[in-house]
Amino acid sequence: MTPIIPFDDRDGYIWMDGKMLPWRDAKLHVLTHGLHYGSSVFEGERVYGGNTFKLREHSARLIKSGEWLDFKIPYTVEEIDKFTRDVIAANNIGDGYVRPVAWRGSEQMAVSAPAAKIHLAIACWQWPKYFFPKGGDNSGLALKTSEWRRPPANSMPVQAKCCGNYTIGTLAKHAADKAGYDDAFLLDYKGRVAESTGSNLFVVKGKKIKTPIPECFLNGITRQTIIALARELGYEVEECVIMPEEMKTFDEVFVTGTAAEVAPVSKIDDIEYKIGPVTAHIKEAYAELVRRKPKATAAA
Ligand code: PMP
Repeated sequence: MTPIIPFDDRDGYIWMDGKMLPWRDAKLHVLTHGLHYGSSVFEGERVYGGNTFKLREHSARLIKSGEWLDFKIPYTVEEIDKFTRDVIAANNIGDGYVRPVAWRGSEQMAVSAPAAKIHLAIACWQWPKYFFPKGGDNSGLALKTSEWRRPPANSMPVQAKCCGNYTIGTLAKHAADKAGYDDAFLLDYKGRVAESTGSNLFVVKGKKIKTPIPECFLNGITRQTIIALARELGYEVEECVIMPEEMKTFDEVFVTGTAAEVAPVSKIDDIEYKIGPVTAHIKEAYAELVRRKPKATAAA
C-alpha cells in the first residue's frame, strides 16, 4: 500500500497571505471562523507540464465563491494567477494539483463576522490521478446512489465551491466506499440526476450526449469545457433533466472534473455500462487539450 504522507508534514512551500512559507509553517489558529462556521472557499486545479489548465477561470471562480459567502478576497484575479504560478515554480511542479483556499479568520467568532479578515493560501503538490477504480485501472468507476441529495439553490450557495457543500459529498462518498463502490451517484432534492461527489455527469446514447442542468450543483469548469469540446468534435450535446429511471437506457456514462478529468463509469448500482467509443474519444481529446501550450507562450 502507498504510504499516506500527512498534508501538514511535507517539504516545499505554501503561499499564504503574501508570503512564500516553508510548507510546515502554513498554520492557522483553532479559533478561526472558517473552521467553525464553514466560511471557506477553495479551488482544485491541475498543472500539466508546468501550466495550470484554465487558471484564469479557477482564480475567477475562487473570487466569485467568496462573493457568494459575502466576503471579498483582497486580491485581483491577475494577482491570484501570479501567486499560483509562483508557488508552482517554488515547488518545481510539472504535473500536479493546486489548492487555493480563502477563509474568514479568527478576528471575530460569531455567526456574523464582518470584521474577520479574509485570508488566502495556495498550495500545490505532485498528484498524478484522482480515481483508483476498485476494479483496476482499465475498469470504469462503480457508483452507488446516495441517500444524500443536492439541495435547492435557495438552501445552499450551490455555485460556490465552498467547504459547506462538501459535507454531503464526504458522507455520500464514505457510504459508497463502505459498500465497495468507487464514488456516489447523487440526485437532487427533486429526485433528478445531479452529479457525483466531486465531478459532473454525462450520459451517452448512440452519438448523442446529455448532461443534467446545473441548477443545484456546481457547473464545473471541466463540464463546460467538455460540452464545448464534444460539440467541436461533432457530437450533439443536450443539457436537460435526466431522471434516475432513464439511466438504464444509456450506452455509456462518464464523469468530468478537474481532478477526475474524464472518467468512464462502468456501473451505477445494478446497471452496467461498457466503456464505449464516445467516452474514449472525449477522454482522449480532453487529454490532448489540457496539454496544449497556452496561446501567450505558444510562439515562444
Ligand atoms: N462537482 C463537485 C461537487 C466538485 O467538487 C467538482 C470539482 N470541483 C466538480 C463538480 C467539477 O468541477 P470542475 O470541473 O470545475 O473541477
